[in-house]
Amino acid sequence: MVVLKFGGTSVGSAERMKNLVNLIHSPAPKIVVLSAMSGTTNALVEIANALYAKENSKANDLINTLEKRYQAVLTELYSQETTLNKGKELLKNHFDFIRSFTLDMFTANEEKAILAQGELLSTAMEHFYLEEIGIKSVLLPALNFMRIDANDEPDLKYIEENLKLELAKHGETNLFITQGYICRNAFGEIDNLKRGGSDYTATLIGAALTSPEIQIWTDIDGMHNNDPRIVEKTFPVTELSFDEAAELAYFGAKILHPTCVLPAQKRNVPVRLLNTMQPKAQGTVIKESAVTDRITAVAAKDGITAINIKSGRMLLAYGFLRSVFEIFERYKTPIDMITTSEVAVSVTIDSDKNLESIINELREFCTVEVDQNQTIVCVVGSFAAEKQGMAGKIFDSLKNIPLRMISYGGSENNVSVLVDTKYKKDALVALNKGLFNL
Ligand code: ASP
Ligand code: MG
Repeated sequence: MVVLKFGGTSVGSAERMKNLVNLIHSPAPKIVVLSAMSGTTNALVEIANALYAKENSKANDLINTLEKRYQAVLTELYSQETTLNKGKELLKNHFDFIRSFTLDMFTANEEKAILAQGELLSTAMEHFYLEEIGIKSVLLPALNFMRIDANDEPDLKYIEENLKLELAKHGETNLFITQGYICRNAFGEIDNLKRGGSDYTATLIGAALTSPEIQIWTDIDGMHNNDPRIVEKTFPVTELSFDEAAELAYFGAKILHPTCVLPAQKRNVPVRLLNTMQPKAQGTVIKESAVTDRITAVAAKDGITAINIKSGRMLLAYGFLRSVFEIFERYKTPIDMITTSEVAVSVTIDSDKNLESIINELREFCTVEVDQNQTIVCVVGSFAAEKQGMAGKIFDSLKNIPLRMISYGGSENNVSVLVDTKYKKDALVALNKGLFNL
């Protein structure tokens, strides 16, 4: 069974919900994963923040505004009285539920329950629409099979078992609709796969069923070779390996949830990125690849802080790096890039949340320098066969850009440099010219 995932803008209006039928109505069996209508999850986050702050009248205003938007969608989406009434009943249930928290205690658990409402609404609304126009579909409750474990990692075995049980209840059906993003946690409570997590839902389902293909439908024609918002000429990359895609997703190519490639890779299910606005366009396919010498794309990630850590005693010392890493571990702060010399090490982090405490602890045994407003620029490809020449090409392109750090050899799929964010555009343009002749 093929899995098709549609993001918030693909269900962002009555018109888009109607148009979706063209893409999901065919005899081939499929599971359709939907996000919440665009803007909904942000609005729910805002509502939750107001409730945390005990600003109940603000929360009520936000809830009313969101409900009005949904009411308007309903009247445009449905033309039959019975469907319209079902839609109204649906809205009432969900918005009464959201409103109930203005009267009650509000904790992280309630917040997660509120955040789940967007996907529950969009999927039911699409399902009712299909019913109105006479297309049979089954609404598959993600909360019955999608699950994360005590470490917030998806429990693929549980998902596989329970998804198959759900599917078996509807033997004859070939069109299933389910919610992206939402799941239950190890305690059985409503939880989610983090923002943008609908992609992850889709790849988890595809992996659980070893689907022939997972399709991620967005508004862009696939993954581009460079950031189209910054560089004038870019093109969609037709094929990426799983490893290349994982590097790109992490390094800020916003099109895919960073970890969502992993389940697909684990079960070797190709992931195809397609464009709802140009359904016939080829898009990008992410799959196992045997190509070992190519540069596929360039990406950048802002908001990086570089920390240079110097110890007089690092020379020939062991245990130094461990002491450094332990501090980052204690503050649950992942390190992205790392370069070392005999007497110093530079690392980068993408969250400054615990920066001060980390620096204070480091200062107890080393000298520390911090550079904020840095950008990681990474070149992704498969460099296994062509170990010579690749670095030359990359650094020749970047010869006029001041480089703060260089990371090469960490993987065969990535060469990264750190630059001051003010040089980011120049770096991306230079790489586009040097590597892609654009
Ligand atoms: N609705 C969720 C979000 O906005 C999940 C998703 O769209 O992927 O983050
Ligand atoms: Mg997304």
